[in-house]
Amino acid sequence: MYKNAEKNLKKIKKELKTRIKHIKKSLTATRSKDWEEAAIEAENDEVLEGIYSESTAELIQVKFALKRIKSGDYGDCAECGDGINKKRLQIMPYTSLCIQCAQKLE
Ligand SMILES: [Zn+2]
Repeated sequence: MYKNAEKNLKKIKKELKTRIKHIKKSLTATRSKDWEEAAIEAENDEVLEGIYSESTAELIQVKFALKRIKSGDYGDCAECGDGINKKRLQIMPYTSLCIQCAQKLE
């Protein structure tokens, strides 16, 4: 059960890790001496930082989901224990909440 989800999650995990690594690299890269270029880079950094925190948050969720597959809890809502809609799991394989609980938290 959930073999596909596991495969998907592992793929997402790998992609996220690569993305995070790249962002980290460009965030720590040295700035241009040119003032205008440095300003553009600073703006890019802000965008990158946004993607960075989103990606790390996603990675945590993916890891959590993989753990839940192992423990057999995957597919059940971590809040209320109800089964998570299959379609929802297909779109967001790393989700640990059913749609009702996710909406409550938002
Ligand atoms: Zn729930």
